[in-house]
Amino acid sequence: MSQNPESVIPWQSLQLHHILSARRRIDGIIRQTPMIPSAQLAAISGAEAVHLKLESLQHTGAFKLRGAANKILGLSEEDKKRGVITFSTGNHGRAVAFAARQAGVKAVVCLSEQVPKNRVDFVRQLGAEAAVRGKSQDEAEEHYEALIEEYGYVAVPPFDDPAVIAGQGTVVLEMLAEQPDLDTLLVPLSGGGLLAGTALTAKRINPNIRVMGVSIARSPVMVESLKAGKPVAMEEKKTLAGSLLGGIGRENHYTMPLVKALVDDHVMVDEPDVAAGMLHALMYHSLVIEGAAAVGIAALMRNEINLKGCKTGIILSGSCIEPKEYVTLMNNEMQCRTN
Ligand SMILES: *Cc1c(COP(=O)(O)O)cnc(C)c1O
Repeated sequence: MSQNPESVIPWQSLQLHHILSARRRIDGIIRQTPMIPSAQLAAISGAEAVHLKLESLQHTGAFKLRGAANKILGLSEEDKKRGVITFSTGNHGRAVAFAARQAGVKAVVCLSEQVPKNRVDFVRQLGAEAAVRGKSQDEAEEHYEALIEEYGYVAVPPFDDPAVIAGQGTVVLEMLAEQPDLDTLLVPLSGGGLLAGTALTAKRINPNIRVMGVSIARSPVMVESLKAGKPVAMEEKKTLAGSLLGGIGRENHYTMPLVKALVDDHVMVDEPDVAAGMLHALMYHSLVIEGAAAVGIAALMRNEINLKGCKTGIILSGSCIEPKEYVTLMNNEMQCRTN
């Protein structure tokens, strides 16, 4: 199968120019999201300034569109004709569907029979084919592999891919264009596409920027993998930060070495921190964000990172959450506060 040249390069050769080309490529598809200052978070942490990058307002509700769009638009004409495929039910699946439609490329999203009907409908509304098969996510993945084998669809990986990482890095280009003297970045971490893209972009522009990954304490897969020196699997425990679940791949070619080489530090947040971060975004900024997007605010509010005098950028990565779940959670959280 032919691949675009960026798909086969070693991680060491990913450079700023890949991020700059990504930005040009995805310009017409993504939204340049706003960044807003937070006086409250600056006061809490002693930082000189705190800026929140609102990828929660990105089309399809998360930064994932940047990576998916860069990957799909960068495919050869031949690969575009084959169509693209993924098995993610969450933000990545939506991003692939949306970007493919914009690019005029066929997209297939493999889903298990367990996936709620509204999610299946959502994929179809975005113009993708929903291939519903299998009793579990694993079986949906088997179906996905079978379809690639049979029809030659091109896989769009959620994180471990140079074009995807370069696309995610464009978030930080926008942040530094607006606030060039940001010196600390707090970034949600799961598979590491966003963090690797962030670190690559930030360090190539200014090696002194401190880049920190924020993991969820219930499933810090990347941090555990770095400790073990190889990708580890972890049991999936239910968390408010559902978009941070999932492994880093049995073989990891890009995000793990990039995070290892370029990221300065890692922090963890727990469930109550995440809920508090979500409520903070709602109360002080009228922002609805999902749990995974609140981990940066949560990390700051724990007051374990020294941000005194720093100019801090925090990525609010997405806003995909069921309204009912959100309202209940925020209600409970507010009651905890007042009692
Ligand atoms: C995917 C996702 C993350 C984690 O990104 P990785 O590239 O997998 O580390 C964080 N927040 C949201 C909202 C996501 O959808």
